[in-house]
Amino acid sequence: MVKICCIGAGYVGGPTMAVIALKCPSIEVAVVDIWDKRIAAWNSDQLPIYEPGLDDVVKQCRGKNLFFSTDVKKHVMEADIVFVSVNTPTKTTGLGAGKAADLTYWESAARMIADVSESSKVVVEKSTVPVKTAEAIEKILSHNGKGIKFQILSNPEFLAEGTAIQDLFNPDRVLIGGRETPEGQKAIQALKDVYAQWVPEDRIITTNLWSAELSKLAANAFLAQRISSVNAMSALCEATGANVSQVSHAVGKDTRIGPKFLNSSVGFGGSCFQKDILNLVYICECNGLPEVAEYWRQVVKINDYQKSRFVNRVVASMFNTVSTKKIAILGFAFKKDTGDTRETPAIDVCKGLLVDKAELSIYDPQVTQDQIQRDLTLRKFDWDHPIHLQPVNPTSCFNVDQVKVVRDAYEATKGAHGICILTEWDEFKSLDYNKIYENMQKPAFIFDGRYVIDADKLREIGFIVFSIGKPLDAWLKDMPAVV
Ligand code: ADP
Repeated sequence: MVKICCIGAGYVGGPTMAVIALKCPSIEVAVVDIWDKRIAAWNSDQLPIYEPGLDDVVKQCRGKNLFFSTDVKKHVMEADIVFVSVNTPTKTTGLGAGKAADLTYWESAARMIADVSESSKVVVEKSTVPVKTAEAIEKILSHNGKGIKFQILSNPEFLAEGTAIQDLFNPDRVLIGGRETPEGQKAIQALKDVYAQWVPEDRIITTNLWSAELSKLAANAFLAQRISSVNAMSALCEATGANVSQVSHAVGKDTRIGPKFLNSSVGFGGSCFQKDILNLVYICECNGLPEVAEYWRQVVKINDYQKSRFVNRVVASMFNTVSTKKIAILGFAFKKDTGDTRETPAIDVCKGLLVDKAELSIYDPQVTQDQIQRDLTLRKFDWDHPIHLQPVNPTSCFNVDQVKVVRDAYEATKGAHGICILTEWDEFKSLDYNKIYENMQKPAFIFDGRYVIDADKLREIGFIVFSIGKPLDAWLKDMPAVV
């Protein structure tokens, strides 16, 4: 029986391994993590991450050929294939701070693999890493002093949170990069055999190591760039009276462009896009390509601009101040169907409003009060980031008492002056907006950062409505935001 071990039981490792276990009953899969609470949650009925369909997959395999454990060393030692899916955050201090990936967790995982292994293994990079990480990891592994041979593969994960299970069941492609030596090719084949149990062969792409590593960064950069492109257009639409949805539709009908990922919004979030682009920027700079670095940096800058534009619009419309006004925040996760708040635009929007002394009442169906409070008080890295549009340490500029986390949208909006919709949860579409309007201060504002509401219907009720990239209400035209 082939044994797989995955180090890191996070958003990538957990769902990916659960699907491998489901699709490959003859493989034993162990997911290990040093974070005991996370492992305990994976072994309980309350999984540590919310992902549609995940519960079902885990229930079918857990205890049969899928195990979650904190005994990292034991499972690594026993495995034939070791996936490494640990976190690779952006460095916050030192060389490359604000851009380069922090490989501390990766390096310690690699050293541990080298220490405990007693037989040859295939080591698979699953978490996104800077190009040429495999080379560094190879060096750590090959200096194990025991003569054990390791083969490194890069197998980046392309799943999208919120649709992870669907994406894993039916991936557009699986990418496996490896050394172009006979041993490297054998390792590629071993991993290909795993995926081939449910993924059609023509969707399994094999490349050299560096191409696979760079493809992941490139894919995320391209996706984020589409969003920043349409968001840049949304600013122009508001200025000119064009409608960004109509523009996106017309543009997306060109088969060379395609309709997907052309929705304008308050900005992209998630653990990957920004981090991977910054990483790409850093790699370009290190390779003496400042023009290329600047090109990609602009994608992040437009995203920051979109978030501050939104905040400015809210403040400007409400007579240039939100001080002591109650603002309801509907949605905090970076997108619907996930509880993940990493790099969610809601953090920057809320901080922007808090600095202007707003009283926030936040509701998200999947994000806990603890998480929201942590996100709003954590200090972000000091790089050219939206935080620099605000005072240097935002946490010193607002009081935690300004933030209340509540249990439903009606409570959040009761007595509020304005509503900001920051995540496109389906339940926000079917709220009773008549009831909400009645219970709000007048004039009642709604700022839709995700195209959740039917703007015309809400105008009929009496709301002053702002939808990103849409022609502005007369009120908003009279209260221009400095953007
Ligand atoms: P992703 O979204 O890429 O899956 P997460 O941050 O959700 O990233 O998960 C990464 C996981 O890796 C965390 O649960 C963390 O505790 C775990 N981890 C980090 N370093 C190690 C290590 N050396 N050994 C085991 N687990 C680790």
